Amino acid sequence: MNLPYLANLNPRPREAYDVAVIGCGVSGANIARRLSAYNVRTVILEKAADVSFGTSKANSGIVHGGFHHNKKYLKARLEIQGNLMFDQLRRELDFPFKRNGIIVAALHEDEMKSVEQLYTQGVENGVIGIELCSRERILELEPKLSPDTVGGLYAPGGGMIEPYRFVFALVESAMKNGVHLYTNFKVEAAAYDALARIESPAAELDKRAGVWTVRAEDGRSIKTRYVVNAAGLYADEVSRIFGGEEFSIKARKGEYFLMDRLTRARPGRVIFPVPTSVSKGMLVIPTVEGTVLVGPTADAVEDKADYSTTAGHLEEILESGKAMVPSLSRGDVITSFAGLRPYLDEDFYIEPSKKAPALVQVAGIQSPGLTASPAIGVYVKDLLKGMGLGLMEKSQWDPFVEDRPRSRELGPYELDALIARESRWGNIVCRCEKVSEAEIVQAVRLGHHTLDGIKYFTRAQMGRCQGGFCTYKILKIIMRETGLSWAELTKHGGKSRLLEAQL
Ligand SMILES: Cc1cc2nc3c(=O)[nH]c(=O)nc-3n(C[C@H](O)[C@H](O)[C@H](O)COP(=O)(O)OP(=O)(O)OC[C@H]3O[C@@H](n4cnc5c(N)ncnc54)[C@H](O)[C@@H]3O)c2cc1C
Repeated sequence: MNLPYLANLNPRPREAYDVAVIGCGVSGANIARRLSAYNVRTVILEKAADVSFGTSKANSGIVHGGFHHNKKYLKARLEIQGNLMFDQLRRELDFPFKRNGIIVAALHEDEMKSVEQLYTQGVENGVIGIELCSRERILELEPKLSPDTVGGLYAPGGGMIEPYRFVFALVESAMKNGVHLYTNFKVEAAAYDALARIESPAAELDKRAGVWTVRAEDGRSIKTRYVVNAAGLYADEVSRIFGGEEFSIKARKGEYFLMDRLTRARPGRVIFPVPTSVSKGMLVIPTVEGTVLVGPTADAVEDKADYSTTAGHLEEILESGKAMVPSLSRGDVITSFAGLRPYLDEDFYIEPSKKAPALVQVAGIQSPGLTASPAIGVYVKDLLKGMGLGLMEKSQWDPFVEDRPRSRELGPYELDALIARESRWGNIVCRCEKVSEAEIVQAVRLGHHTLDGIKYFTRAQMGRCQGGFCTYKILKIIMRETGLSWAELTKHGGKSRLLEAQL
């Protein structure tokens, strides 16, 4: 069964668009939302069963501080601009965000030279409030640091977000403002007709001919005047499909340990080691939802679907973490996971294609892609304008989405009031993360029909028992709400079927 995403917000699919954004990670979602403020018919084409199922689901969730990279790189300029956009975004959208600050901790005197260079770079990049810290100051800022720490750097503007919730909120906002989304739409073929035209308010403005027909693996197709390739690890394949530039995206794996929210080793700020030439190093990250992440590694892998974790790497992660925060304990580990950075070159590659007409490449969006993503949205909108797309601001753009209550954040009286209105608020489905049945139902009704989609939207299955208690209950709710049969239930769409027999 192919259930529409956010069906109630998107009742009548169209077949002809001004812009098709391929890929719905944090880049595609920000681009689509930005375009939703203009009179432009935009569609997002995503091959997965839900949004944010690519690199945007498994990363450190840090809003970087703007001091790690030189401003000569586009990624550094977009990082700095993107960082500053998060307060406004949080006011408009419903996603967890906290500016708890970033620390770089030097454990040896000889590392202080690199810390000073980072500080100078930060000052040149205009990082607000950046501080070069003595041993006393850094330990005052973060008492969980090892007493061996000799000094460091502090950037108060760095912070944390939940990356998938950020993408969900962006997509909800974009769809509320008229953007369409097709999930399970793996772009496989495209053909360009230079003389064809489609009618739309934006086409009235720019009078530009030329239409792409974009086909999915399953035979569905749409027409569009412009295409944005934001396909993450697969941007090289998508470029080839459109006759664009030849390049090769490599995957660089990052493995993590996730620690329970009850750990006593949770720092107040994100802690970085002094970086190396290939990576920012392994960090200790107090996630915005209360758990602790330790990692990531940085290893080139051949297979772009290789999300495995290895005992050796995890050992290395724990050792690196403990060097900075000695109270980290193996007993607090609840799971491990890995994410894949789409690596092309030292920098992002965001440009109009020189080979394929009306195509913008948004490729090689490695770290700090999450931080830079709101600025990528603006940058790509401006590129499209430069390519001729007629943009007229909508008079009725609504930037806000509803702030939904979460059981675990409510006091007893607030929860009681919700239970009085709807008894499902009183049925806690996920005990570790305190997620109620009402929240699971809400997630399903918004279009999250896989176990992972529900996990990323609600946090159910993310706690200490990792779904041991609630998975069965969630599956029952999905079946009841959607009419899907047990044979159609999946972990993350496609062939990831869960059950061999009826519940
Ligand atoms: C380990 C790790 C840690 C990181 N930590 C941070 C951090 O703390 N802060 C930070 O700023 N950045 C961080 N990053 C970087 C950040 O996660 C990425 O830059 C960002 O998520 C990239 O988003 P994207 O939308 O470009 O790609 P993706 O999220 O991968 O989205 C691409 C989408 O395209 C879809 N797609 C692919 N092919 C097709 C097709 N043919 N048809 C239709 N759809 C298709 C995919 O399914 C996917 O959903 C980290 C990355 C990793 C891996």
